[in-house]
Amino acid sequence: MPAEINLGSSLERLAGIGRRRSQLFQQLGINTIGDLLFYFPWRWEDRSVQEGINSPSPGTKATVRGWLTGWEERRPRPGMTITKFFLQTEKARIGLVFFNQPFRKAQLGRGREIIATGKVEMRLGQLQMNNPEIEMASLDSGLHWGRIVPIYPVCRGLSPRLLRSTVYRAMETCGNMIREIIPPPIRKGQQLLSRAAAIKEIHFPTDWESLRKARRTLAFEELFLLQLGILQPSKDVSGIVHQAHGELVGKFLTNLPFQLTGAQKRAIAELTRDMEGTQPMNRLLQGDVGSGKTIIAAFALVKSVESGHQGVLMVPTEILAEQHYLNLRQLLAPLRINVALLSGSISGKVREETEEDIKCGKAQVIVGTHALIQEGVDFANLGLVVIDEQHRFGVSQRSHLLKKGHSCDLLTMTATPIPRTLALVFYSEQNITVLDELPPGRQPIKTYWVGENARHKVYDFLRQRVMEGRQAYIVCPLIEESDKLKVRAATELKADLQEKVFPDFRLGLIHGRLRLEEKEEVMGKFRDGDIDILVTTTVIEVGIDVANATLIVIENAERFGLAQLHQLRGRVGRGTHDSYCFLLGSPTSQEGIQRLKAMTATSDGFHLAETDLNLRGPGQLLGTRQSGLAELKIANLKDDMALLLEARREASAILNRDPNLTDPAHNGLRKSLEELFGPNWQDRQA
Ligand code: ADP
Ligand code: MG
Repeated sequence: MPAEINLGSSLERLAGIGRRRSQLFQQLGINTIGDLLFYFPWRWEDRSVQEGINSPSPGTKATVRGWLTGWEERRPRPGMTITKFFLQTEKARIGLVFFNQPFRKAQLGRGREIIATGKVEMRLGQLQMNNPEIEMASLDSGLHWGRIVPIYPVCRGLSPRLLRSTVYRAMETCGNMIREIIPPPIRKGQQLLSRAAAIKEIHFPTDWESLRKARRTLAFEELFLLQLGILQPSKDVSGIVHQAHGELVGKFLTNLPFQLTGAQKRAIAELTRDMEGTQPMNRLLQGDVGSGKTIIAAFALVKSVESGHQGVLMVPTEILAEQHYLNLRQLLAPLRINVALLSGSISGKVREETEEDIKCGKAQVIVGTHALIQEGVDFANLGLVVIDEQHRFGVSQRSHLLKKGHSCDLLTMTATPIPRTLALVFYSEQNITVLDELPPGRQPIKTYWVGENARHKVYDFLRQRVMEGRQAYIVCPLIEESDKLKVRAATELKADLQEKVFPDFRLGLIHGRLRLEEKEEVMGKFRDGDIDILVTTTVIEVGIDVANATLIVIENAERFGLAQLHQLRGRVGRGTHDSYCFLLGSPTSQEGIQRLKAMTATSDGFHLAETDLNLRGPGQLLGTRQSGLAELKIANLKDDMALLLEARREASAILNRDPNLTDPAHNGLRKSLEELFGPNWQDRQA
């Protein structure tokens, strides 16, 4: 005797769904009846039967009911059959025209009463519908016609019709088992429908107004859960109170290698306030590539050291760790601050010593990769965590590092600009500083999208720049399959270029599989100008800063996302020389074309981020790294801003009263959060 059917039951429990069909549903991510009920239509169509049609407004769809009175068939040319049926409605006669569907004759015998939905046109004085959708009037009233019907995103093998009837069956069987999760006071205050009613109305709306309410209810629920998962209960933790600027910070600020931009000065002022305050700092520094975030990080690290703490800077790649290490060592040496480097490929004795230095406090500023969060890396007195290119890290990695200290201050930095709406949703607990100004003298990077036929011209141009003393990057095609293939492709490309195109230049090669010393060597040579052209995989995507490199060629540019292209391009334009970016690519999709066009149209990262948001939607934009947070099923960040702010307000109010949602009244909420974010959802942050 099978268990009772419920929301968690497999779809196969529904009549009409067998093995094969349930597998098709799985392709859409639908495993259970509950999944199906929360699989929302992407649009709705009013298929209420219209009583009379005699003057159709062109282009709009209509649903009509009538009797079939006859048909005729024509073959205007070989390979084409036009079958036309005549539909007699109460007020008019309409021709239903089908192209190459002779089987319709068997389906639509004469004399039947049917419902037809389609665009009505006037052809030669006669009303006509081309390829209308047909329903039998005796069947399925109130499901596929005679109402506002839902249209679902489908996949091959699953028709919109089958989806619709399966959802209907799921609702009949289990619709009343949907439990409330939003506490009644909020539901009432926000004038939401009950959850069960919202689900019913989103699939089979009574009218457009109920549909609107249902959508609003479900979007609110979605945003509310998201905010509960992200917002911090306002904790009364006391953080580290850093002392006011003393001699060390003073010296750092007066000895800077350049004059700070206005935006950098503002950032420093904000960090100072945060770090000297009693609450732990949690600030996101957003600044376009090349806006000068590193110096801000250096400032914070010095300030931390001055107050007797250690500061740590975590970055996503070894090359970047090493670059920051060299950079900081140079900046901080005059201040007699001891800087250490820790990354995955540092091992053996050196590693032991470094770990020892970190543990006893001799290392005051530590730069490293993910290696920093491993066990065995213990700090004497960690006071500040800085995370560069933070979009490359997950929430848990960040919190692991924070847990190595006590209520540390946290500064995260990113050059992947996040549109304001997204920032509000996904980084709601962080204060945000934006570096909206580039250091003086920067030339906009001239960006060109070129096809394969222009390759030799690009190479000629590159040759001239190198003759003038500049350097260049050539970025290999993005190969998803494996590291090994990437390495091979890069190696071959370099050999080929060296031999056939630039025999007289010094080429270097860098990719992820090199050992740290090898990477160091190559990057060192490139920095020192001993390599003219660096052939590289995307390992140089973030952070790398060589001002004399003024030209970048990106192969197969259509394979890269917009954010990634922008980051890569940001490797040039870091000095005062004119800089160039060549995108080699032949995109086949509309989206690909738009991406490359956007790249040539602007070099403003924020602008590109908005474009990206429009092209791909927020889920894709944030990437998998933001755990499950990204995919919004029904809320829409462009239109639901007001709703988002409401959801945020309600969520933070509830967390203030019941931080871990242990109140039995919040059981439903807690369970939903566990489903969304995993059992440890409360560990949003350390
Ligand atoms: P990003 O924000 O991309 O991390 P960096 O911190 O690497 O940028 O800075 C890019 C380059 O600009 C570096 O070479 C840095 O020394 C230089 N730079 C930063 N701030 C200024 C400034 N105010 N004036 C001149 N050059 C600056
Ligand atoms: Mg940087």
